[in-house]
Amino acid sequence: MRGADLTHPIQQKPDRRAVLLVRGVVQGVGFRPFVYRLAQEEGLAGFIGNDTDGVTIEVEGEAERIDAFLGRLPKEAPPLSRIDSIAVEESALSGEKGFRIVASEVLGRVNTGIPADAATCADCLRELMDPRDRRYRYPFLNCTNCGPRFTITRRIPYDRPQTSMARFRMCAACQAEYDDPANRRFHAQPNACSQCGPKVWLADADGTGTAVADDAVKACIDRLVSGEIVAVKGIGGFHLGVDAANEPAVMRLRERKRRYGKPLAIMVRDLDAARALCVLTGADEAMLTMPARPIVLAPRKPNCGIVNAVAPGIPWLGVFLPYAPLQHLLLADKRIRALVMTSANLSEEPIAIDNDEARARLGGIADAFLMHDREILQRCDDSVMAVVDGAPQFLRRARGFVPLAVQLPLDAPPLLAVGGHLKSVFALASARFAYQSQHLGDLENVTGLDFFRESLDHLMQTFEIEPETVAHDLHPGYLSTQWAKEWAQQRGLPLIAVQHHHAHVAACMAEHGVTDAAIGISLDGTGYGTDGHIWGGEVLVSRMDGFERFAHLNYVPMPGGEAAIREPWRMAMGYLHAAGFDAESPELLDRLGAGATEGRVLRRMMMRGLNSPLTSSCGRLFDAVAAVVLGRRPPRRMDYEAQAAIELEGLAIDEPYDSGTNFGYAMEATGGNWESREPIRIVTGLLWHELMDDLRRGASKARIAARFHAGVAGAFVRAAMMAREATGLRKVALSGGCMHNRRLVRLLRMGLEAEGLDVLQHTKVSPGDGGLSYGQAVVAAAMMESSRS
Ligand SMILES: [Zn+2]
Ligand SMILES: [Zn+2]
Ligand SMILES: [Zn+2]
Repeated sequence: MRGADLTHPIQQKPDRRAVLLVRGVVQGVGFRPFVYRLAQEEGLAGFIGNDTDGVTIEVEGEAERIDAFLGRLPKEAPPLSRIDSIAVEESALSGEKGFRIVASEVLGRVNTGIPADAATCADCLRELMDPRDRRYRYPFLNCTNCGPRFTITRRIPYDRPQTSMARFRMCAACQAEYDDPANRRFHAQPNACSQCGPKVWLADADGTGTAVADDAVKACIDRLVSGEIVAVKGIGGFHLGVDAANEPAVMRLRERKRRYGKPLAIMVRDLDAARALCVLTGADEAMLTMPARPIVLAPRKPNCGIVNAVAPGIPWLGVFLPYAPLQHLLLADKRIRALVMTSANLSEEPIAIDNDEARARLGGIADAFLMHDREILQRCDDSVMAVVDGAPQFLRRARGFVPLAVQLPLDAPPLLAVGGHLKSVFALASARFAYQSQHLGDLENVTGLDFFRESLDHLMQTFEIEPETVAHDLHPGYLSTQWAKEWAQQRGLPLIAVQHHHAHVAACMAEHGVTDAAIGISLDGTGYGTDGHIWGGEVLVSRMDGFERFAHLNYVPMPGGEAAIREPWRMAMGYLHAAGFDAESPELLDRLGAGATEGRVLRRMMMRGLNSPLTSSCGRLFDAVAAVVLGRRPPRRMDYEAQAAIELEGLAIDEPYDSGTNFGYAMEATGGNWESREPIRIVTGLLWHELMDDLRRGASKARIAARFHAGVAGAFVRAAMMAREATGLRKVALSGGCMHNRRLVRLLRMGLEAEGLDVLQHTKVSPGDGGLSYGQAVVAAAMMESSRS
């Protein structure tokens, strides 16, 4: 940052000088020009500059005016800033005249973190739609309060030459705004207009150009209205856009993308349009309108006009509001009520960002491409959130939140935590902060791993963190584990393996600043256990640096191993076999859509223990119940992770929560001895008998789904009570991928609170594997701390 000599005459009788250290998100968010204006208005002399982790302000003037300044500072701070603390000290008068924004170097080493991307602000939106404004319908306008940040930045410091705006030389009018501390665009790094900034064009699938500038936007709208699929370049990558009210068009997108079941996100013009589609609470609306503009999951209204193919089999929609000016222009056309805007990729590959890459990868999917020449440098999918039992929760933490820090409750030496396998996210930690990467998708393919490396290099450089330790999952087969071992070996760094569900629970505890101990309920899909089995229905008495397994779901076979994760009918066979049912009965096989031979083969596999690893996973229990209750829907092989469990939750959406005792299916706790650290087993046999009776009696699917949820919640509430009895702990941390299930979380909370236990729920990182790396970082830091002391 360059220093600026911006002296103004000020008032006459200074009698106080104060030094302020402001901490929080105060760099790159328009904070210095804001303080500059505030000082002007209060007639104060002094200066402001960025320092290592915030800003330093010195103000001199009448004591009364300084008080006014101090009062207004937190109240009027710019929308993207977040003040965590203001320390004020008195200082001797210096007789300084005027207020200055000083060069960063003056105040020593600067931690020039890169801000997160932010949605178009209200002022810019007004200009975009105002025919008298010089930026009327210009799709790349922004200011210090909004615009792309993280996704256009190559390296620190966050300054125009280090961004993909470097090649656009500002025109005189833009430069004047950029240089004027009183202007909303003072030091707005991506500042641009139609004269000097990026340009948009529409191209056919074969790459031939068809229209440029505003004609391209208008032509794109016409093609969307006629049912075509258009790849639209956004902020963190390309979207595939299609009219969400046009069934054949949405089906064509599904066929070309080869995704038949996965719900597609839809973008609508504004909050009113979202209200017309979904039942929204105040908390939903607050999330929809955050500067990050996440996709928000909310119950859909009947006959809302969105075709069923958008989200088949579930009663929710994922909606979001436009966050880039180009998206506002597309949705301003009244012929479009809602657009499917789904990440432009095939299945779990990273999202496409480059124009050539998009053409190559999406050529068979999109009919046209709405491109522009502002390069996206960091891939970043849309974030996904939902209100779970009254609290905001991340299903995917990415655009708009990355690379903001999440606080750690203890000091961490510089370390890297590589996360899990699916929904990969890594974390870099140092001192009291963890920086989680964007959602990287599944690490199953080479592109996924490349994305991981690219992103790691970028964030290590951005935060100047050189890891001294590497934390990874206990699972030896995870690509992330293997990668961590190689990477650490090359650098001669120590490794720390962290058990999967311990990481989940520690993440939840750390979010809430709990550093001693808590009862952790970790209900999850798959995680490698210390006994070599696959865990996932766990009650762990947890400290930051270790845990004891207090209780778990009984082990059942997963016939076919990995295949049983993708094909819930196999898990149903596993559970029913374990509960003593005849896995070869024709009635059962027919219900699950399985053949007689398959039944025989699976039963033999389980009897002999062949390719049938044991699991205590709660996710697999949900899959198995879903397969039995839903019958042949969803298809035998799931189209996306947790599809069966999500559809099962959806079945019960209108069922009451408080249905009295003995409503939930019975699950017994057996065995266990805390003194000898032998875990309690939560047995599911009775549950299956009651459930099959309900089915035979013709009970509704909704009621069966509700009784099942109540049974699982009840069993884990009882296990937590036993853990309290044994340990005296009262705090219960809820974590693991099953905590995305709103009914389950609400039932758990109701039950636990009724017993006088305190419930901790995730709000800062995902309870699923997206939050795992944060938990690994916490555990690794705690283990190193205890080994030192
Ligand atoms: Zn703006
Ligand atoms: Zn310009
Ligand atoms: Zn997990």
